[in-house]
Amino acid sequence: MKLDVKADLPQEQAAMPSVEAGLAQLGWPADELLDALPSLTWVLDEQLNARFASTALLRYAGLSWPELQGLGWQALVHPHDWPGFEQACRQYLNSQPTQAQAQTPTPALARDYRLRAADGSYRWQLLQASALPANSAQSETLLLGLHSDIDERKRVESQLQDADDLWKLALESNGDGVWDWYVQSGVELYSSRYLQIYGYAESDVRPTPAEFDARTHPDDLAQMQADRDAHFCGHTGSYSNEHRVLCKDGNWKWIHSRGMVISRDAQGRPLRMVGTHTDITQRKAAEALIWQQAHFDPLTGLPNRRSLRERLELGLSEARQQAGALALLFIDLDHFKEVNDTLGHDMGDRLLIEAGARIQACLRPGDTVARMGGDEFTVLLRADAAAPQIETTARETALQIIAALSTAFHLATERVFVSASIGISHFPQDGQEIESLFKHADQALYAAKAAGRNRLGYFTPELQQAALLRMRLSNDLREALARQQLFVEYQAIVDLRSGEVHKAEALLRWQHPSQGVIGPAVFIPLAEASGLILEIGAWVFGQAAQQVKLWRQHFDATFQISVNKSPVQFRSEADTAPASESWAEVLRMLELAGEALTIEITEGLLLEADSEVESHLAALHAAGFQVSLDDFGTGFSSLAYLQKYAIDLLKIDQRFVRNLRAGAKDLALCTAIITMAHALGMKVVAEGVETAEQADLLLAAGCDYAQGYLFGRPMPAEDFEQLFGKD
Ligand code: C2E
Ligand code: CA
Ligand code: CA
Repeated sequence: MKLDVKADLPQEQAAMPSVEAGLAQLGWPADELLDALPSLTWVLDEQLNARFASTALLRYAGLSWPELQGLGWQALVHPHDWPGFEQACRQYLNSQPTQAQAQTPTPALARDYRLRAADGSYRWQLLQASALPANSAQSETLLLGLHSDIDERKRVESQLQDADDLWKLALESNGDGVWDWYVQSGVELYSSRYLQIYGYAESDVRPTPAEFDARTHPDDLAQMQADRDAHFCGHTGSYSNEHRVLCKDGNWKWIHSRGMVISRDAQGRPLRMVGTHTDITQRKAAEALIWQQAHFDPLTGLPNRRSLRERLELGLSEARQQAGALALLFIDLDHFKEVNDTLGHDMGDRLLIEAGARIQACLRPGDTVARMGGDEFTVLLRADAAAPQIETTARETALQIIAALSTAFHLATERVFVSASIGISHFPQDGQEIESLFKHADQALYAAKAAGRNRLGYFTPELQQAALLRMRLSNDLREALARQQLFVEYQAIVDLRSGEVHKAEALLRWQHPSQGVIGPAVFIPLAEASGLILEIGAWVFGQAAQQVKLWRQHFDATFQISVNKSPVQFRSEADTAPASESWAEVLRMLELAGEALTIEITEGLLLEADSEVESHLAALHAAGFQVSLDDFGTGFSSLAYLQKYAIDLLKIDQRFVRNLRAGAKDLALCTAIITMAHALGMKVVAEGVETAEQADLLLAAGCDYAQGYLFGRPMPAEDFEQLFGKD
């Protein structure tokens, strides 16, 4: 090989006497020194043809100088690296200052590229090259290059990169996005999946942590920072935080970010932290939905019973600490059931939604109204600085609610009226705990309803007393039947035209061991509530059946006794053997015709009538019983029902009879009822007839029968026989 370049260095360098002198002292020409360097060394011209290759380079490539010249320099460079190599060299050469400008040396060109070795493999080399400016002997600028073998370093680096890529790939494989944060340098790399989660393109975001900190929900930032700091200073083994991130489309996504510092500096400060983002938006939505469902009533959107308890618990603990006061309002819609039954559940639902909204509108911002189920709402009020007198607030609010609910509800084309009864209990005076406050508000509500509805009632110790009494009585009632404390009285039903008595109503009495005779109005509700009514009702029926059998035999073959049947008896028979069957059985045993007995039912039963009730009524008819509708006019009366359910007798409630006077409004009402009942093929009984005037007016109005103190009070069977058994 021969160095084509003369050792003549450029003027200014040649002027350095120390280099010149130093080389001369060694006794070696410069070109031989260059060739003796252990580094692979070449000189390329502007066309990138090799003009010199050191012995080390030729040995590395396994070529002779002529062979290399024949192949051309490009043959030794890895094809992938050639374009970059070529461009870098040309650029470097072009950037060389002209000789005149060459006052300051340009920095060397440094570049990695792969060079073919003798065995055909390529090894990474770090090239450092500088320009040899044109001179008198050489018209073009040449490039002098020296190499260091960096193949080993490159392999390690690429292994690391591969490993990085691999775990990133692994992390992404389950749909997570990967972030890679160089903490000190403020660079954060986001994987494409990461960006994809939020809908960003790589060009939308710069690789810095600030990009996504700025897109984190403001409410979540503080916790995120706290969790990050906890991990940075080593309090937590890994970082974990749930927060919301703003997507490109403007929506928020909930994500779970997990990560770990994987390298720290000598002072223990984090250098690099990597982690993932998992999209948990759906889980969060499901959780929110579950929470919503657990705490809110789906129909009205109001807090439910459970929420109310939670809020009351919270309110109580605050009130205890601050000597505060609370009021609990139990609200029950009067006549809601009728609306539901007559207009259908859709209308009922609408009414409940509207009622909830009306109640809400009566409250202050911090107050709670909850729907407890059915038509029951509860309001929780607290005393505050603006209204320290909770009793006053509660009373005013309750009155407002009653007024709000008493105005007409417009449901589609219907105008519907309901009203509300409200029971109020106060913390602390009426109860210290949730249970007692609930119980006492309920007792107050019970009292409000008993007092005639559409009003508010307070909890009082007397109510508590009454409730206690009811409970004791209910307990006593369990034994009343077995101890033969129950008995039946009979009240005559008079034929108004003839004045004859061919009918009587069986009315139940209770001889209480310490309280004397108790009326059914007091204990029947207790028996209904406890289910005892089934047993008791069957017993009354048996008594009446035996009695009518006797009277038919001895006095009057057409005699008829009516027996009251509670709605509860109809309802429970759905799952047990229908009593209509066992009652028919009683008739068979007594060899009694069904017409000997009439079953008295109430309007409420017809309102809630379903196919079950219908079939029971049909069964009663089939067994030959007559059916009579009791207390007509007190419920949500509708003559349409009467037609549908084949009622034989209609009993006008005593409330209409009580005020019967010539010209009174109630007379017109009674007359109308009688006329319509007759048109529908029913006979009419007037209840509670106490005066001759009432009886006369009723007879004139066409009423068929009358029952009342005028003709006789309910009385034991023997007395009844004495009075009416003669004819
Ligand atoms: P009801 O079926 O409307 O019975 C008529 C009620 O009016 C009876 O009250 C009767 O004593 C009363 N009464 C009759 N004539 C007059 C009058 O001229 N003036 C006044 N002011 N009242 C009069 P009682 O016996 O207290 O019964 C109350 C309710 O208890 C009954 O109302 C009935 O619904 C229920 N009941 C009575 N016995 C039974 C029974 O064996 N089973 C069921 N399920 N309920 C019964
Ligand atoms: Ca009755
Ligand atoms: Ca009645």
